[in-house]
Amino acid sequence: AINKQTKEFQAETKQLLDLMVHSIYTNREIFLRELISNASDAIDKVRFEALTNHALLEDNADFEIFILPDEATNTLTIADNGMGMTYEEVIENIGTIAKSGTKAFLDKVKAAGSAADTELIGQFGVGFYSAFMVAEKVTLVTRAPGQSQGVRWESAGDGTYTIEEIEKETRGTTLILTLKEEYRSAEHPDENFLNRYTLQNLIKKYSDYIRYPIKMNFVKEEKPLDDDGKVIEDAPATQTVEVRTLNSMAPLWTKNKNDITQEEYHQLYKNLFHAWEDPLETIHSKVEGAVEYTSLLFIPAHAPFDFYQREATTGIRLYSKNVFIMDNCQDLLPEYLRFVKGLVDSPDFSLNISRELLQHSQQLKRVGKNLEKSVLKTLENLLSKDRPKYEKFWLEYGKAIKTGVYSDYQSRDKLKDLLLFNTSQAADELTSLEDYVNRMPPTQKVIYYATGKDRSAVERLPQMELLREKGVEVLYLFDRVDEFAIDALREYKEKKFQSVSRGKLELDDIDAAEAKKDTAELTKENEPLIKAIKEHLNGKVADVKISSRLKSSAVCLVSDDNGISLSMEQILSEMNK
Ligand code: ADP
Ligand code: MG
Repeated sequence: AINKQTKEFQAETKQLLDLMVHSIYTNREIFLRELISNASDAIDKVRFEALTNHALLEDNADFEIFILPDEATNTLTIADNGMGMTYEEVIENIGTIAKSGTKAFLDKVKAAGSAADTELIGQFGVGFYSAFMVAEKVTLVTRAPGQSQGVRWESAGDGTYTIEEIEKETRGTTLILTLKEEYRSAEHPDENFLNRYTLQNLIKKYSDYIRYPIKMNFVKEEKPLDDDGKVIEDAPATQTVEVRTLNSMAPLWTKNKNDITQEEYHQLYKNLFHAWEDPLETIHSKVEGAVEYTSLLFIPAHAPFDFYQREATTGIRLYSKNVFIMDNCQDLLPEYLRFVKGLVDSPDFSLNISRELLQHSQQLKRVGKNLEKSVLKTLENLLSKDRPKYEKFWLEYGKAIKTGVYSDYQSRDKLKDLLLFNTSQAADELTSLEDYVNRMPPTQKVIYYATGKDRSAVERLPQMELLREKGVEVLYLFDRVDEFAIDALREYKEKKFQSVSRGKLELDDIDAAEAKKDTAELTKENEPLIKAIKEHLNGKVADVKISSRLKSSAVCLVSDDNGISLSMEQILSEMNK
């Protein structure tokens, strides 16, 4: 056996721990949810692996999570008979943080100062380390199936931990929290984590739908009854221990929609996806037919703080008849919908199939197509029936949808009506392409757009002058992906998109062709001047023309019809730096 050793946490882990220990995060009770969900994940794992390797069960297949408060030692114990961990796995999973975005998260917390704790910590999903919010010492004892030795790990959250090999008879993980004084005080029952009723309520609140029984001992004191069924008051009381299962274990999504409250949906969502606030939208569907499945999808109220920087992962869990198969199923939803969280439960998914094969199965593809459809349908409904809510959605995920328009040609057509834009019409309103086109005067041939870093930058563009003068509405694109999306669409309802800084403005029909004649004449008259300017700029521009697009500015730069746009040029030159 490996003897006791003291090791240091990896630097980022140390910082995260420190944050947990000293955090002003008020919602500390969620530590229980986090630890129970880890226990449940570990049971899911062994249960799934055992389908192909029965020996892993070690004749112990009564899966359960046991909660044991003990006032004598000031400890709260959470035990599971899940997958456990090997010595290496403990070091790997508990001593280091593999979680993507940890660094970004810590930087954000630092930048925001302690006031930001509550929101950020909730958003990040604290996991195992949340134990240190309420415990002065955390002891973890674990054994993986098939291992002869178990592992004991212990830390006071002070930057180091000890680890050693020990004997452990049963498979799984036992976590012992030695509670800080303030979290075992009878004076604050709500935060007394030794109080069985407090624990019971928390489990109901956060972990009701965990699929394995969460059990706790309740000690009953009873005095014997006499022949008439009356309590014999002066007889000594006998203690009986009753084991109660505290969660209902029924997966919510199998219930009838009409029997589910909004609150229940939201609680399940927070529970499964470590969310700290209600989702923006819930989509529950039961489908029968070629493939049979139930899906429960959520649109989180906020995009994760690092959503646009990190690799795409979808948040869809797969189940077959309530049994968990896998997390983060890729290929189920297109990348542009990767913000959607949820689960799919289908009897058609085979449990025994390997994860790799499952990912390529036809059933999964078909389900994926349907899910995409139902998310888009929901968004279309929001847009037409609850505009304020849709705009909230747009603020969070608009960029993802725009990315879909230019990177996912199969979905392009389905997404164009979901796009919203700023326009010259009103500073604080967004408009859809349909609204824009409906407002176009019949003489207007194209959809105008202008790009710039913000409204005032766009409005300062010399090219905007004439359009403003003529009262033509212009889409304002502030985001780079806006322009990529517009370029990919090319047209909307047979109206081409026209950049105000590219090629001819096609304003002739809006205004009688007066200006055109003028410029032709002016060009003739000014031939020597144009020639002189061209020579002076010596190859820096492709051409010099007398223009009708300016009002009070003397000159402006335009791209030619076939060239790339100015802002695209800027992006390209930045990339080349
Ligand atoms: P997450 O659950 O998001 O992966 P956590 O911080 O909650 O992050 O847990 C870190 C890792 O520690 C888990 O991914 C898992 O590998 C391991 N772990 C935690 N609790 C248990 C447990 N009860 N049994 C087995 N492994 C566990
Ligand atoms: Mg976890």
